[in-house]
Amino acid sequence: MSGEGPLRVVVVGASLAGLFAAAAAACRDNSVTVLERDVLPGEPEPRAGVPQGEQPHVFLFRGLLALEELLPGSRQELLSAGAVPVDTGGLPWLAEHGWLPVEQRGFEVLSLTRPLFEHVFRRRVAGLPGVEIRTGSRVISLRRRDLHWAVGLADGSTVLTDLVVDASGRSSRLPVWLAEAGVGQAPVSQVDSGVGYATRMYADAPSGFGAVGVVLQQTPATLVGGIALPVEGDRWLVTAVGCGEHRPPRDAAGFESFLQRLPDPALAELARHAEPVGDVAVHRQTGNRRHRYERVPDWPEGLLVVGDALCAFNPIYGQGITVAACEALLLRQALAAGLGPGYTRRLLRKFTTVVSLPWAMSTSEDLRYPTSIGRQSLPQALLGQWTQQLSRLAAHGNLHAYAVMARVYHLMGSPVLLFHPALGAAALRARLTGYGPATARPAALDALTPSA
Ligand SMILES: Cc1cc2nc3c(=O)[nH]c(=O)nc-3n(C[C@H](O)[C@H](O)[C@H](O)COP(=O)(O)OP(=O)(O)OC[C@H]3O[C@@H](n4cnc5c(N)ncnc54)[C@H](O)[C@@H]3O)c2cc1C
Repeated sequence: MSGEGPLRVVVVGASLAGLFAAAAAACRDNSVTVLERDVLPGEPEPRAGVPQGEQPHVFLFRGLLALEELLPGSRQELLSAGAVPVDTGGLPWLAEHGWLPVEQRGFEVLSLTRPLFEHVFRRRVAGLPGVEIRTGSRVISLRRRDLHWAVGLADGSTVLTDLVVDASGRSSRLPVWLAEAGVGQAPVSQVDSGVGYATRMYADAPSGFGAVGVVLQQTPATLVGGIALPVEGDRWLVTAVGCGEHRPPRDAAGFESFLQRLPDPALAELARHAEPVGDVAVHRQTGNRRHRYERVPDWPEGLLVVGDALCAFNPIYGQGITVAACEALLLRQALAAGLGPGYTRRLLRKFTTVVSLPWAMSTSEDLRYPTSIGRQSLPQALLGQWTQQLSRLAAHGNLHAYAVMARVYHLMGSPVLLFHPALGAAALRARLTGYGPATARPAALDALTPSA
């Protein structure tokens, strides 16, 4: 692949990772063809190729910054389309050791339905120079032909290209295509705590309910949790989560009684008083899975993998979109510098710099669950105990502990921040003299108490 002159780029999959990659590749007069198997709806609607589309999707603050860098004005565009800005510092959050404090300012996340998110970006990316999104185009094969790639479609046609970016998600067929091409197999790492999601949309939240959202965190002890987030059109997504045998059901009555089992009544009350819009949607493909393509010694030129096709995370931690946006920024930098021989493998190695931390966070947390196969390593267990300690301090009003945990969670700071000496001193003090009063249930939830 020459580093000079415009390239022909094919992106497989027009979901978020594919759209971000296409936006990144739309430079230097490149022609970018996005091949998507679904016939895409003209309006923001769930679709078959993105079965998780009815579940809540937020992106971390790092993701918001990355999107803004990739496509300036993204935040405003999402807000204009109806996204709700949520200051996570004011978000009622029942964590493993109690309620986290809500008085401080925190990182912003935008809350909107997943179909709207995709719709806004699809419109934006389709308007970029050199980009074409071809729908109803299922890719069925990938073959090296001289210095190019021949991308085979289900209708029998072939697209010739210089660079292929696989963004076809968890169901990516790339391992099969590589095997057919005689390329070595990539090691795959998996950790699956067996999380299931069930989500229902509601309108007409009870008056007096003043919270920006509610999180009842799932823990290895409870194995269940839930979340309520506002979305466009004055509606709320109420989600129940559970692991293994505790996964929430699809039927409306079962869903509502599941909400009543959660460690706080807020979500059950919200669902009881608000008006349901549509059915309960469930989703259970949530395991962490990472393909180590960067370790394949004979990795072919001109082939990249991004998004869930490269590394899919347990979605409970909200990392996938952010990581895909960060990968797209690395792709854009590489294309702007001009690709030289061996570049695609080097870029895959660079992707590990954005994948490794969220992967370590989500897998080491998931290995605490009795539903996961495998055990934490000693360093994971020690780090886990320390973050438990910080979480306990935060639940007893230590804003410093809360702030560093939020920074690391939003991928805005190094985990080294967790080891600030002042936090060590606070933990020691708490051990010796007690943790002090626990943070009270936020007053914003008063309207969601059974007697209210
Ligand atoms: C329940 C759930 C909740 C989630 N919540 C969050 C969250 O809150 N925050 C967050 O950051 N992430 C979340 N995620 C993860 C997020 O959905 C993904 O990380 C994100 O969609 C990026 O995925 P992707 O574009 O790589 O793949 P996908 O979204 O899976 O899209 C793959 C695309 O490729 C197309 N495709 C597949 N095969 C072919 C083919 N052969 N030819 C042509 N097209 C093909 C599909 O039709 C689809 O359009 C969640 C995931 C789940 C399952």
